[in-house]
Amino acid sequence: MSRVAVVGAGPSGLFAAQALLAGDPGVAVDVLDRLPTPYGLVRYGVAPDHLGIKATTRVFEQVLAEGRVTFYGMVEFGRDVTRGELLDAYDAVVYAVGASEDTRLGIPGEALVGSRSARELVAWYSGHPDALPQSLAGVRSVVTFGVGNVAVDVARILLHDRDHLATTDMPEAVLEELRASSVEDVWIVGRRGPQHASFTTTELRELLHLDGVQPVVTASDLEGIDESDLDRRVRGNLAALREAAARVVERPRATLHLAFWRRPVEFRGEGRLDAVVLEGTAPGVAGGIGGTGRTTVIPAQLALRAIGYRALPLAEVPFDATRGVIPSVEGRVVDADGTVLPREYVVGWIKRGPTGVIGTNKSDAAETVRHLLADLRGAEPRGVPGGLAEVLAARGVRSSTFEDWRRIDEAELALGGARGRPRTKVETWAGLRGIVGGPA
Ligand code: NAP
Repeated sequence: MSRVAVVGAGPSGLFAAQALLAGDPGVAVDVLDRLPTPYGLVRYGVAPDHLGIKATTRVFEQVLAEGRVTFYGMVEFGRDVTRGELLDAYDAVVYAVGASEDTRLGIPGEALVGSRSARELVAWYSGHPDALPQSLAGVRSVVTFGVGNVAVDVARILLHDRDHLATTDMPEAVLEELRASSVEDVWIVGRRGPQHASFTTTELRELLHLDGVQPVVTASDLEGIDESDLDRRVRGNLAALREAAARVVERPRATLHLAFWRRPVEFRGEGRLDAVVLEGTAPGVAGGIGGTGRTTVIPAQLALRAIGYRALPLAEVPFDATRGVIPSVEGRVVDADGTVLPREYVVGWIKRGPTGVIGTNKSDAAETVRHLLADLRGAEPRGVPGGLAEVLAARGVRSSTFEDWRRIDEAELALGGARGRPRTKVETWAGLRGIVGGPA
């Protein structure tokens, strides 16, 4: 039996595990994660009201329940186990750690209280145990920057009908905070035109049709666009925006503003954000944008950067800091000179950058696993006896198991059921450790 370690139990890692099982009956897979909970971005990134996408966990659960798969939760790469130890203990190692950091705007006032990354808000409403509590007290106007699906997600959660949010798995404290919120205006600001926005049409339409929310789109942003060369998604986005611009919502409880061709140049406030300054933009040289010098000031108590995620390097593993990825040739890890490093592979956002939807990881993992299995076929199984368990025992690391996760799962279902909800997330380390056992 050959043994493969997959570092990261998110969608990319679990699609890789699935492909490994399907591709070779002689392979066993150990999946490691820093958290005691598997499913990564499906659990902690996919919006809580997108229950359809969250249901992919059923596929992943079957993968983890397979006899040839072992889940090691609460094991952090670089702290609890090193690259060298994994390479000693396994025939191959697959890095599937995603992109956990966010990008900054680099403008004055970005450090004010009330200026945050959308990632922090997503982590909070998804009940991630590392998330800081987010207060919406006194927040009436929110401005998000970036016109991708993350901006659409956070805008939708902030504007959604409060009763609808109770049908999600949000932690109770998050639900209470959102129920009490007095957000009346949400702005989505793009530095280029609507034809350049990266959100997908289904997600955009869902946002534009929230009950009781008046969408406002500047008509001139939608004029003079040559649609002949645009793909279906972009034409769909433009049609959705045009419809929204023409729609009048009776007695709206909130307003959604979509503002294009504007970039943030300053956040203002005394310690706490109270306004953002936007500058008009126009197409510049070489596909870039230039500033028009014309500025507008929008009152805002919360500004959210949704301008893309960024991966962190893994200790001792090659990293391309410019692209924010582990460099590879179709998933085979390479060093700075482009030489393939034997037995090391990469999948997901840490391989291709933070793009694509959950399903994109399936074809991405298939490419990497095809190469991995081809390489394995030419090699003798290493058959290291103690494996990861021995390394962890020697270091005194108490890892968690798939059975531990099942207990967390049952506890969350019971917590939700008691309140008539499908699930309520356990959102603290103490709460999770309390279920798993071991020191809090
Ligand atoms: P994204 O789609 O790459 O969008 C990032 C946005 O930020 C772009 O509009 C970009 O504009 C803008 N931006 C970048 N730097 C900027 C700056 N300095 N100033 C102003 N704007 C800036 O990324 P994302 O929204 O973080 O989403 C990441 C991936 O997850 C995407 O593939 C997305 O589709 C996926 N996702 C999917 C769903 C879903 O399916 N429901 C939900 C969430 C996320 P430019 O184009 O001008 O660079």
